[in-house]
Amino acid sequence: ERSAVLAAASGPGATSDGYLVPLLANIGGPADVSAAVEAGAEGVGLFRTEFLYLDDSKRAPSEERQVEAYRQVLEAFPQGRVVVRVLDAGADKPLEFLNHGDEPNPALGVRGLRLLLDHPEVLRTQLRALARAVEGLPVHLEVMAPMVADRADARAFAVACREAGLQAKFGAMVEVPSAALRARALLKEVEFLSLGTNDLAQYTFAADRQVGSLSRLQDPWQPALLDLVAASAEAARELGRACGVCGEAAADPALACVLTGLGVTSLSMAAQAIPFVRATLATHTLAQCQRAAAAARAQDSAAQARTAAMAVLSGE
Ligand code: PEP
Ligand code: MG
Repeated sequence: ERSAVLAAASGPGATSDGYLVPLLANIGGPADVSAAVEAGAEGVGLFRTEFLYLDDSKRAPSEERQVEAYRQVLEAFPQGRVVVRVLDAGADKPLEFLNHGDEPNPALGVRGLRLLLDHPEVLRTQLRALARAVEGLPVHLEVMAPMVADRADARAFAVACREAGLQAKFGAMVEVPSAALRARALLKEVEFLSLGTNDLAQYTFAADRQVGSLSRLQDPWQPALLDLVAASAEAARELGRACGVCGEAAADPALACVLTGLGVTSLSMAAQAIPFVRATLATHTLAQCQRAAAAARAQDSAAQARTAAMAVLSGE
């Protein structure tokens, strides 16, 4: 069955009635590019750039080294989209040279964009490297910031991108509930949104993503999480902007249909999940996805939401 799914799955991501939902890959560096291309990814929806900073946690990688790594990824998707996330350090991704000392709650501390705004030279070097890497390539480069909490964060990131002379769209990740609740305000500063459902679940439920015993609260089927996805997607749609998902939630085929029904405009996931998500999406109409989304949101638990959505998707 697995090989049948893989053989049947090619072409752009779409519902059975032709509503397009680009299926993109999450990658951690140039080494992941070939798997993404083989899975038929229409581009990269989340390029986690932390790998560059991990070989030597005592200093930042040189601009040259970054240009080379970014170029390798950008060249692999000539006509596609590549969404690069700027360095997301701190909390579960600590780096010595950006150490903020002992924080009692690192996940609630200076991490992601907060850390970059405290070290503007690190952000500037990365944005300049991206500007150089994309020069002369037809790829659609998009750059986004992790852990944007409010409009001021979105603005500071957009200003840094403009100052670096970056010819790209600038976006904000929605990983903090405040960002989802005020998605319209963020879109006054940046062009697109991308939901990081792993962190969004962590912060919505006050449940550390690294504590396995809290997995019930990290479940992306949680109706409260779906409500925040819906709020972000609706704000983006009203303004004619893109709002994708790049957290693990997008890799669950039934949940991918629900996210589509909630109005998200692209789904980015680990490459190996793409054929299955493509095959599942292709067997449901957009209206069915919307009904599944409404059914899931009407429940009070993740388990009930999954059951209710599955019932709609299986035509019961
Ligand atoms: C997320 O938080 O959902 C996300 C995509 O980013 P990461 O898992 O790298 O924190
Ligand atoms: Mg995150």
